[in-house]
Amino acid sequence: MAIKSRKVAIVGTGLVGSSAGFSLVTQGVCEEIIMIDINHEKALGEAMDLSHCIEYLDQHTKVRAGSYEDCADVDAIIITAGPPPKPGQSRLDTLEASARIMKSIVEPIMKSGFNGHFIIISNPVDIMAYYVWKLSGLPKSHVIGTGTSVDSARLKHFIADLVQVDPRSVQAYSMGEHGDSQMVPWSHVYIGGKPFSKVIKDNKDRIGNVDLDKLTLDTAQAGWAVFNRKGTTYYGIATAAVGIIKAIFNDENKIIPVSTLLEGEYGFNNVFAGVPAVLNKDGVKELVEIEMTEEEQIKFNKSVETIKKHCGLLSI
Ligand code: NAD
Repeated sequence: MAIKSRKVAIVGTGLVGSSAGFSLVTQGVCEEIIMIDINHEKALGEAMDLSHCIEYLDQHTKVRAGSYEDCADVDAIIITAGPPPKPGQSRLDTLEASARIMKSIVEPIMKSGFNGHFIIISNPVDIMAYYVWKLSGLPKSHVIGTGTSVDSARLKHFIADLVQVDPRSVQAYSMGEHGDSQMVPWSHVYIGGKPFSKVIKDNKDRIGNVDLDKLTLDTAQAGWAVFNRKGTTYYGIATAAVGIIKAIFNDENKIIPVSTLLEGEYGFNNVFAGVPAVLNKDGVKELVEIEMTEEEQIKFNKSVETIKKHCGLLSI
């Protein structure tokens, strides 16, 4: 009997990459992890540190440092190499440097014979995911940007805190760009199946004065709120990326808002943007096209146009 072990490679073993490795081993998501970085000693150090966790975990995971040649039979590759924005920069300001790095990574990976799933974290993530899709030649279902998965988790956290329920009892998406222009279709927010608008109406004395525009802004700025205090963010995004991998490895058919190729959905083509999608062993199985109000669609269009405009700066 041939037993196939699940392998994940992490390219870029800085703060986000090492946190993704930690999340993978502590949740027992795969049997092997290969840590890859331009700074091989850093990858080696992270692999050693992660290996030392195993004694106290429920599952054994082999962790080692490696190279792109090791990617041939890897099931999923998380790419998190790239310069995080410096204070005062937006995620879009890192486009040129990230694109250069992405090209130097994806070409040797594809030469190795890799045929699995790419999970892109590097910013600006929607544009980098699109670029990796173009560079790799893989089917659109196999290239996933983390997109607004982490923003949606933040949004749920804020709403849950307001209403006093568990975030997992909230259904809500932040959509469009993983960046300042992201938007929230409030007409599709539910608490335990009850429309949020009705929850507000029924609890006027407690939450009647909630400012939805401010909540949208707080969601879009949540990454910066963390960044301004600790200089960067990594646990939230690393856990979101691992959530995406779990949905793939466990064939969950879980709906997660990710950055994926739009081909006519929501009125757009040839652009990656954050929209809810069904994820299973085939990667993105299908997109969930929700019906937005006219006002919501205008905001979504504006956000996706921002991504499109910047995709034009890539040399493809
Ligand atoms: P970091 O500086 O801690 O780590 C980056 C790592 O990439 C370093 O170890 C570096 O050696 C490596 N690297 C650089 N060039 C490389 C190359 N050509 N090949 C292989 N490795 C290379 O940065 P970080 O805080 O971990 O952030 C990494 C990326 O993740 C940034 O692009 C950042 O903007 C992004 N990020 C995205 C989200 C999100 O929500 N999508 C959240 C946080 C960070």
